[in-house]
Amino acid sequence: MTVGEYLVPRSLPEAIDLLERHGPELLVMAGGTLTMPLINEGIAMPDRVMSLRHAGLGGIERRGDVLGIGATTTLTQLLAEEGVPLLREAARNMASWPIRNMATVGGNLFTPSPGGDVAVALLALDAQVRLAGPRGTRVVPLADFHTGFMTNALAADELLVEISVPTTVRQTAFIKFGRKHANTPAVVTVAVALERRDGQISAARIALGAAGPHPIRVAGAEAAIVGSALEAGVIEQAAAAAVRECRPLTDALATEWYRRRMVGVFVRRALELIVEQHRARVAESA
Ligand SMILES: Cc1cc2nc3c(=O)[nH]c(=O)nc-3n(C[C@H](O)[C@H](O)[C@H](O)COP(=O)(O)OP(=O)(O)OC[C@H]3O[C@@H](n4cnc5c(N)ncnc54)[C@H](O)[C@@H]3O)c2cc1C
Repeated sequence: MTVGEYLVPRSLPEAIDLLERHGPELLVMAGGTLTMPLINEGIAMPDRVMSLRHAGLGGIERRGDVLGIGATTTLTQLLAEEGVPLLREAARNMASWPIRNMATVGGNLFTPSPGGDVAVALLALDAQVRLAGPRGTRVVPLADFHTGFMTNALAADELLVEISVPTTVRQTAFIKFGRKHANTPAVVTVAVALERRDGQISAARIALGAAGPHPIRVAGAEAAIVGSALEAGVIEQAAAAAVRECRPLTDALATEWYRRRMVGVFVRRALELIVEQHRARVAESA
């Protein structure tokens, strides 16, 4: 058996038209780092594949205080973008150079747990996704995009077009803990984005990867730190809340039991990292 037809649309309208014409049997591919191994192994053998590489969905655009990241922007391109340090940090922690050269930011949102490291950072940054189909375009908060293990809000005739991220200055930390130092799937990933006003945390987002069926936020942990100056006791409370709220899976990398404990350890470390960075900035400006 072989793939019957390989379609390469040159624009978004052409891609949507092909998707509408061929229906859900058409396999959509961006960088191909998740889909090509499935085809190579004979796990997926679609009649038709549509590559999005030339559909004009790549590139990063600054629009006021928003960064628009085209769905097929590669992780290597994201690494070169200096506007949002948390995203660079997430891209730096993902896979190896050859994979990052092909893997796309959009494709990362479709990575089954425990993957999707960049998706975790995007969730902490309150990103929104733009979806397009024959009925037009709609914008969905990333927090509402994932609906379960490998399920999402994308309709069968829609494509992910863009991910937009506010560029507001935030205090951020990203930690990916894996079995190896680099190029490894996550045992747990933590991304934190905080806003501080008059010395106190005024807004908090704590996102976790490999700690649920998809990247999740831990609202109880976030609530524990809002209004505080991020003292040690508050950090412990937030870490404990994250341990209670997470819903990790057992897989070949780690058990649910171990992941849950590592959520506590790395939420605490990420918050401590932010405290250290904040102190260093204050000392520098004194
Ligand atoms: C060796 C190796 C190491 C890896 N390491 C990591 C890692 O450390 N961290 C990590 O997060 N991931 C890792 N991955 C997973 C993968 O590389 C990334 O998740 C990548 O971002 C997926 O993007 P892609 O463009 O290659 O996806 P593709 O394979 O092209 O597509 C994946 C899925 O997403 C859908 N899709 C993609 N784009 C769109 C779109 N615009 N609209 C609608 N549907 C779309 C496709 O239909 C497909 O079902 C690794 C993969 C490999 C092979």
